[in-house]
Amino acid sequence: MTRCIQCTRCVRFATEIAGVQDLGMLGRGSGEEIGTYVEKLMTSELSGNVIDICPVGALTSKPFAFKARNWELKGTESIDVTDAVGSNIRIDSRGPEVMRILPRLNEDINEEWISDKTRFFYDGLKRQRLNDPMIRGADGRFKAVSWRDALAVVAEVIHQVKPDEIIGIAGKLSDAESMMALKDFLNKMGSNNISCEGNGPNPNADLRSGYIMNTSISGLEKADVFLLVGTQPRVEAAMVNARIRKTVRATNAKVGYLGPSADFNYDHEHLGAGPETLTELAEGRHPFCSVLSNAKNPVIIVGAGIFERKDKEVIFSVVETIAKNINAVRPDWNGLNTLLLNAAQAAALDLGLVPESDKSIESAKFLYLMGADDMNLEKLPEDAFVVYQGHHGDRAVYRANVILPSSAFSEKEGTYANTEGCAQTTVPAVPTVGDARDDWKIIRGLSEVAGVRLPYDTLGAIRSRMQTVAPNLLHVDEREPATFSSSSLRPEVKEKMDNAPFEIAVKNFYMTDSISRASKIMAQCSALLSKKS
Ligand code: SF4
Repeated sequence: MTRCIQCTRCVRFATEIAGVQDLGMLGRGSGEEIGTYVEKLMTSELSGNVIDICPVGALTSKPFAFKARNWELKGTESIDVTDAVGSNIRIDSRGPEVMRILPRLNEDINEEWISDKTRFFYDGLKRQRLNDPMIRGADGRFKAVSWRDALAVVAEVIHQVKPDEIIGIAGKLSDAESMMALKDFLNKMGSNNISCEGNGPNPNADLRSGYIMNTSISGLEKADVFLLVGTQPRVEAAMVNARIRKTVRATNAKVGYLGPSADFNYDHEHLGAGPETLTELAEGRHPFCSVLSNAKNPVIIVGAGIFERKDKEVIFSVVETIAKNINAVRPDWNGLNTLLLNAAQAAALDLGLVPESDKSIESAKFLYLMGADDMNLEKLPEDAFVVYQGHHGDRAVYRANVILPSSAFSEKEGTYANTEGCAQTTVPAVPTVGDARDDWKIIRGLSEVAGVRLPYDTLGAIRSRMQTVAPNLLHVDEREPATFSSSSLRPEVKEKMDNAPFEIAVKNFYMTDSISRASKIMAQCSALLSKKS
């Protein structure tokens, strides 16, 4: 505070952009200083941005303070994978260690901000890492083995099971190249039971407009009414939420929300908890219908948490009826959106990671988890063989028979498509730990050992293969809008909706994936926040 020039930029950021009244000027005269005057905590998912805007360095990053000097750091321009926004970041590293993460300006996506999870979860990159290939022995303990031995065991087992007993699941941090390789490999083994975490059972990938944010993130600023269906953008996609808040503040746009009670940082009307209210809106019986129909540019955002519901097709059909009624889809405006939760989801659907049948995990004899840690494995048969390919010893490792260590996003080059369908790439900032390898290379190696060699040896070659399936993934840094018109709206589904209310898709903002769950800083944030609430 001896450095503070009392410019109040931090206070204005907190009040105007983060939407919290926690920071202010305490005292007067020579005793005047910046502080958290309400409670000793700035309860915002964007709080770290005050570090960047403080002109004199009075507000500093606690995890980074006194750890390194700027001139010792190598900056690498990359993207964030903690959610489906794809915020642009710079990873500052020293030798093999990530020292800090800063935002990069991208007016179309994250502007100049990043969320606290993006900024501070990097310490998870050096904890609980998987360094060597391992096989679980008869005593239940893992033993480090060579790559040759680990791949030989996996190849032997996969040949012993029937093709329809093989299931592959890509995790929420998977890049497009590795998902392409996994799909091709399992297809060659005769199985097409491959999906991506978060996309739910039987995902509908027929129409790209059905699973991306058609309005675009920056396009939200033109909206005058928002209808949020089963989504809480503040915890699901903090930068999208910041954009909605910006619009609400600038234009007094109205916000209607359907779902469980939630913490919003802008004025909103809680319309109801779930499907019943949605039906009322579709039938024009709800008072909010007049707000929607008077809007010039209405925006509907459906949460990807709905993908997990059995009645999702009916819900999407009812939402599309509302969109038709209020003229939200027309040649000059597309206000019908899905807000995805995870970095891998959009590319997985673009690449067609859709199971051929509705085979559930109960019938698996061979389960290939590529960083998929949030699947419910309770119903998996005891004799099922599980391969876990990933970078952290997280939830699914405890059920694995073989572990294949892979690189984290900061250690590899990979393509990700964000929630608005913009393809972006990560760039290696630090070397891979231990004996880990890039995901697609592991699958390429395994395919050779299994006798079904995949025809690509370089990143360029695998991208050429991706081009034949989803060319949009090669148009890096370009948002590829989905071709869409009101006639592409799906036909009305006559089934009835389940009356169960919409659920919270993200229960703990600070711990959503294997890296953030390994982070000590995220654990502290999570503990402080739960104590406060
Ligand atoms: Fe002081 Fe920095 Fe806040 Fe300005 S931004 S008031 S200098 S702490």
